[in-house]
Amino acid sequence: MALLVNEIFYSIQGESLYSGLPCTFVRLTGCNLRCTYCDTIYAYSEGTEIEIGSLVKKISDFGCSLVEITGGEPLIQDQSPALIEKLLDNEFTVLLETNGSIDISCVDKRCIKILDIKCPTSGESEKNNLANLNRLDKKDQIKFVIGNRYDYEFAKKIVKQIPTTFFRENILFSPVNSILELSELAQWILEDKLKVRFHLQLHKIIWPDTIRGV
Ligand code: SF4
Repeated sequence: MALLVNEIFYSIQGESLYSGLPCTFVRLTGCNLRCTYCDTIYAYSEGTEIEIGSLVKKISDFGCSLVEITGGEPLIQDQSPALIEKLLDNEFTVLLETNGSIDISCVDKRCIKILDIKCPTSGESEKNNLANLNRLDKKDQIKFVIGNRYDYEFAKKIVKQIPTTFFRENILFSPVNSILELSELAQWILEDKLKVRFHLQLHKIIWPDTIRGV
């Protein structure tokens, strides 16, 4: 059992409630979407096939118990759930960053899912699989990347569809980097008294000019 892997690296987690923690990242190759603001175009097709056992060994070598499986879109590879399960069985805390277009039911319940909901600025909002909103549990997170007021209004409508049992603190609103002013998004959230978390892509603040491996 093997996966096509674009890169493995150790960095600071920057896009979830685990933001700020050291984390080993596994970026899997391939994505079924083409977001306008995508910053990992290099992951669409470049990759090396690695057996799951070797991959777990490489991840272990970083000596970090927090691992994020990202992409591209990890769930387009059939073996991704098996990798996640193996890592969980080896006592890792596993985050899965997924673009929200694919059914997440195949993922082990112990995994912390960070579910993107694509807003119109991405050009891919038609692909959201909103049934996923009912497949999350309390440790999971929902992320909206917002580029303008239209995206914000779109996100607000989706928030109303999230089950009331889901923690509102786990709903993240982030501005599209360099497109929407941070203060503007913050102001909208405050004006509307919206119970969501304002969030920044931390790694882009730390390493603004780095393209890979952050
Ligand atoms: S889902 Fe992520 S990796 Fe895929 S195109 Fe959109 S931003 Fe890029």
